[in-house]
Order: sequence, then C-alpha cells, then structure tokens
Amino acid sequence: MTQMGDATHPDISLVIPVFNEEAVLPALFIRLDALMAVIRGRVEILMVDDGSRDASAAMIVKRAAADPRYRYVGLSRNFGHQAAITAGMELAAGDAVIVMDADLQDPPETVLELIARWREGYEIVHARRRSRAGETRFKLWTASLFYRGLRALTKVDIPADVGDFRLVDRRAIETFRAMPEQDRFVRGMFGWMGYRQAVVEFDRDERAAGVTKYSLGKMVRLALDGVVGFSDVPLRLALWTGAIISLGSLLYGAYVVAMAIFGAGLVSGWASLAVLVSFLSGINLLMTGIVGVYVGRTHREVKQRPLYIVARDTGGQAAAAASAP
Ligand code: UDP
Ligand code: MG
Repeated sequence: MTQMGDATHPDISLVIPVFNEEAVLPALFIRLDALMAVIRGRVEILMVDDGSRDASAAMIVKRAAADPRYRYVGLSRNFGHQAAITAGMELAAGDAVIVMDADLQDPPETVLELIARWREGYEIVHARRRSRAGETRFKLWTASLFYRGLRALTKVDIPADVGDFRLVDRRAIETFRAMPEQDRFVRGMFGWMGYRQAVVEFDRDERAAGVTKYSLGKMVRLALDGVVGFSDVPLRLALWTGAIISLGSLLYGAYVVAMAIFGAGLVSGWASLAVLVSFLSGINLLMTGIVGVYVGRTHREVKQRPLYIVARDTGGQAAAAASAP
C-alpha cells in the first residue's frame, strides 16, 4: 500500500491511451481534476499518446508542465490501443493501475467503485458495461456475438461485456509484465492470470467529443487476437472437417464401386465431380489459411520486437522531485 514518507510514490495510476483526441482533452482534464480531488491518496495520470497527429501531444505536454501529477508518454508511432495500454501499465508506478478511455465513456464514479473493491482486497476489478449509449446497432450486435463466441471457444474465464476499463493491483501488473506476447488481447490476459477478481457494473456513456478511433479493421484485428490468442479450436477445426469429409468420401466411394459392379450409367456425373472438387479445394484453402494465421502469430513472437517504442516521456512525479533543487 502507500509507502509512507515517500512523497513521490503514487497510490493510484490512471492510464489513458490517446489517439487524436484533441476534441475531448479539455473536457477530460476538467473531469480528471475533479476526480483526483475526491480520490483518497496520491494519484498519477499517465497519458499515453499513441502516435497522435493532431494537437493532443502539445496539449498534454503543456498540462504535464503545469501539473506534476500528469505525465506524458509519447509512442514513436501508432501502435494500436492494446499496445498503448500495455505501455501505460508497464510504466505506471501506482499500487493500483486503472485503464480508462480518453473520451469520457468510462464514468469517474465507477473509478471510485473500482478503488473501493481494490481496497477490499481484489487484485483485478473489471468494469462491465450494463448498457452502451451512442453505439451503432452493428457494434452492439457484433460485440455481443464476439464475447459469447469467445467464451464458447476458450477455457479462459474472460468476463463478457468487459472492455479494458479495469483496475489492476501492482502484483497483477508484475505478472502482466512477465507476459511478453506480441498480439495482445489485454482483457483476456487479465482473465487468464487468476487472482481475486471482481466485477463492477456501469452504464457506458456516449463519447464526449470526436469520433471512435476503433476502425472496423482494428475491431476485426482485436477479435482475431482474442480468438487466436486464447483458443486453438480453429486449428482443430481442420482435423474434424478433414475426418468428416474423409468418412463421407469413403461411403461415396463404396457407392460408386457398387454402382460399377451392379449397375450401369457411370459415365455421367461431371456436375457432381465439379462441385466436389471446388468444394474440397475451398475447404483446403480455408484450413491452410487458419493454420497460416497461427503461423504468422508464431513468426511475430519469434522476432521478439519491442511491443511499443517510447519516443518522449516527461517523467512522473518522481522525475519532477528529482530535478527539484
Ligand atoms: N486509442 C489508441 N490507439 C488506437 C485507437 C484508439 O490509443 O489506435 C485510444 C483512444 O484514443 C481512446 C481509447 O483508445 O482513448 C479507446 O478508443 P475509442 O474510444 O475510439 O474506442 P471505442 O470506445 O469506440 O471502442
Ligand atoms: Mg471510446
């Protein structure tokens, strides 16, 4: 818990990934200042700039210069949301680390609830979306399908309707740091590691300003990382499909032989042949593709590249204290 006498050690770190959020930052700062005023204990706010190309960086740096509780960490390019929150959690110094969106979709009152559960002794406290305002029907529907599908495909306990808004205790952060996987599905990783976990419910607000930074492509990628990273059921699909088709062809073969012996009219059948050949080559390509996805993942793991590159870091309160005379 709090290291008494160490005035630079934060109790709570708020990690906020930022990608082109200039529209929402002024409102965010106001909200955060109000939130810090009601949190018991020392708070640090670590804003990870995931390669923003707008005024976000300048605005955060300015804020960090004015208020040492703010820290700006700028990545060298856009690494994606999951890499950005990984960077934030690895660099955060607090005893508890909370990840939340920059767009004010995650309400501050819920942050207080997360902290309350943590003080009760839970190492990981997830925030589950009871409702989601301002999302398209398409997003709600695909998300619901995805979480249920994922739960069916993996043995890992990944809570449904939980995004990356959660509190993580220092101990779980250390475990997280020891998981260097490249294609990250952070919510799955925390579900996987166990510890005492609790869930707090909240109603997700609409984005305060700006538009979603999760393109359809990024959403598909995240879903793929979730499935491929936590399940090998797709790989086994090839095995089972192969087995069933082989059995089918065996029976069909027996039928053809019987026809050749007892009947006539074997010459026709061009259509069935064409259908079979194209169907089977389709299945073949599909299965090779699935294997390819896993091989590609292995390839990325083997290269062992860093998950993110920090280009600029204003340092936290510790840095501010160290440079003070
Ligand atoms: N974000 C990021 N890198 C990206 C995409 C998004 O750091 O490549 C940040 C974004 O600024 C926001 C959070 O991740 O703070 C969640 O993104 P967003 O709110 O656009 O997603 P949604 O809530 O619509 O799913
Ligand atoms: Mg959002």
